[in-house]
Amino acid sequence: MPNRKNIWPKNAKGQFYVDRTCIGCNQCCTTAPRHFQMDEVEGHSCLVKQPTSPAEVRRCQEAMKGCPVQAIGEDGAPVPLVSPAIRVA
Ligand code: SF4
Repeated sequence: MPNRKNIWPKNAKGQFYVDRTCIGCNQCCTTAPRHFQMDEVEGHSCLVKQPTSPAEVRRCQEAMKGCPVQAIGEDGAPVPLVSPAIRVA
């Protein structure tokens, strides 16, 4: 189970996060590269951009389901989703 109290400090604040049980397999970074990035020095990934649309939420959930050690959680405080109709480029 991912633990919100044991997350990497570099995670962007919000709904999704990577906790310290990450083994650096890179799966989430491949599945959702806009949201997860590897810290090559420390050897783990972090959630660097919270999803802001339902499609991005689904992409992050796909990465979460594929994590082999269940290091990704989504029980943080969600950021408001932006409607595509009012999104600023
Ligand atoms: S899929 Fe899980 S173990 Fe692999 S890099 Fe992402 S958070 Fe770490």
